Amino acid sequence: MISENLHKIQQEIQDSCALVSRKASEVRLVAVTKSVDSEKTRKIIEAGVTDCAENRVEKLLEKKQQLADFPEVNWHFIGNLQRRKVKSIINEVDYFHALDSLKLAQEIQKRAAKTIACFVEVNISGEASKQGIAPEDVVSFIEELEPFDKINVIGLMTMAPLASSEAEQLHYFHQLKELQEKIAALHLAHAPCTETSMGMSNDFAVAIQAGATVVRIGTALFQE
Ligand SMILES: *Cc1c(COP(=O)(O)O)cnc(C)c1O
Repeated sequence: MISENLHKIQQEIQDSCALVSRKASEVRLVAVTKSVDSEKTRKIIEAGVTDCAENRVEKLLEKKQQLADFPEVNWHFIGNLQRRKVKSIINEVDYFHALDSLKLAQEIQKRAAKTIACFVEVNISGEASKQGIAPEDVVSFIEELEPFDKINVIGLMTMAPLASSEAEQLHYFHQLKELQEKIAALHLAHAPCTETSMGMSNDFAVAIQAGATVVRIGTALFQE
């Protein structure tokens, strides 16, 4: 079941890439395992997934331990991270998707034993309920990260509004892509910013058309 879902999604990734003349190898599938247990997470890894994401500190730590026989798996943290929890998680993750404040950056700088690959989270739609830096503040925010040598801004991350049309999703994802390209063009040593983490179960095809390099998919992978 899980492997059928995976194959279907891989096919959809390929089809979406083909629509806009991109290579499927440009898109990394991150399996969001936050709503399933370690056994289902194990199944998706055995089916060929190399990247898993969690949004709770305790769950990520527990799963990583239970799946320690897969040291090759990359672990992504995609949730809001409280500063007091940075210490326990930051050296356990390969990618952090939700950098959205200088205070958080300071804490990461203090606690990280190595350079952490980070995505800056952008509130691209401006919804009051959403986390993330406002689009107009992203450049100055990233410039301010320059002194933090434990932070490498590899890209931008966003979520489209829940109840948006395909046209709206495309609009927001294009905006994130443009912003990413603008930052990449600054050639900042601490912020190569070559990646865009955007697209979930219900909108990843659109995100890929707009240039997503990382898609974060949970529900569509694990549904019965
Ligand atoms: C839960 C979650 C996802 C996956 O959402 P699905 O709709 O289940 O695919 C992706 N990104 C973030 C930040 C999430 O919290």
